[in-house]
Amino acid sequence: MGRIRIDAHSLNNEGTVGNVTEPRTVILADGQKTDGISGEMLKHIHAEALWKLAKERRPNDLCPACQVLSPMKADANKIVTDQNDVKSALNEALKCIICDIHGFLVQKPTLSRKSTVEFGWAFALPDRFYRDIHVHTRVAVGEKAAKTEVTEQMIYNRPTRSGIYAFVSVFQPWRIGLNEIGYEYAISDDARKTRYDLVLEAYKAMMMRLEGAMTSTRLPHFGDFTGVIVKSKNAFPVPVISPLKENYIQQVEAIMGAEQVYSFDSITSMLSGIDALKNALPYRLGAP
Ligand SMILES: [Zn+2]
Repeated sequence: MGRIRIDAHSLNNEGTVGNVTEPRTVILADGQKTDGISGEMLKHIHAEALWKLAKERRPNDLCPACQVLSPMKADANKIVTDQNDVKSALNEALKCIICDIHGFLVQKPTLSRKSTVEFGWAFALPDRFYRDIHVHTRVAVGEKAAKTEVTEQMIYNRPTRSGIYAFVSVFQPWRIGLNEIGYEYAISDDARKTRYDLVLEAYKAMMMRLEGAMTSTRLPHFGDFTGVIVKSKNAFPVPVISPLKENYIQQVEAIMGAEQVYSFDSITSMLSGIDALKNALPYRLGAP
């Protein structure tokens, strides 16, 4: 969890009405309105980063749908849908890295898997964001008629936003490859470690350059990232305290103890913190 400064972006929007694109607005519990980037978008950015890495490094560990990053995932995997019982269908589905890590829904047999990576909305600190609507024109040059150039002009409005965003994400490595019907691991420890490393690499890839909407002309400027990486070495969960709170780092340190908390004050130190997590093995359910 942390605070990221993103300038002049338009990463996701409410939708377009006529020629006006509305930025995402979120109302917090105290009634304050702020700018937001949805968890769906952030999860999608992570999934795409993971997919690119898996295509390069573990291409045989993707189901036919995930080979082409189809949102159908396991639901389009005939080996899964041909199974008669849900437990073996789930075991088959877990052979795919993206299905295992990012979750899926299968209609027949009815089967769902919750993602092992979770993202909250990124909220701008209510007193630290700005929005501008820029007016653009698209000009189509028409036929020239007797010395006069006929042009068609279309006016459209594009939002540009800047802010310090509170970011939260949880990764649950203990669930990698875990069949949650029989509560047994469907893949080997080595395969679980490979996937664990890939998920961490995908976090790095997404944080080094945020993908999203309108990046062809609103490629975000960013560089400031402060926060904490909190780890748990046992069955006890890590706390998630919103970086909207000024003292979130002190609270996390008070709960977990300094040893389990890595603080970072730049993108570079955040990336080093993620790399350091690769020295650990993913937790196994029931391990002491
Ligand atoms: Zn898949």
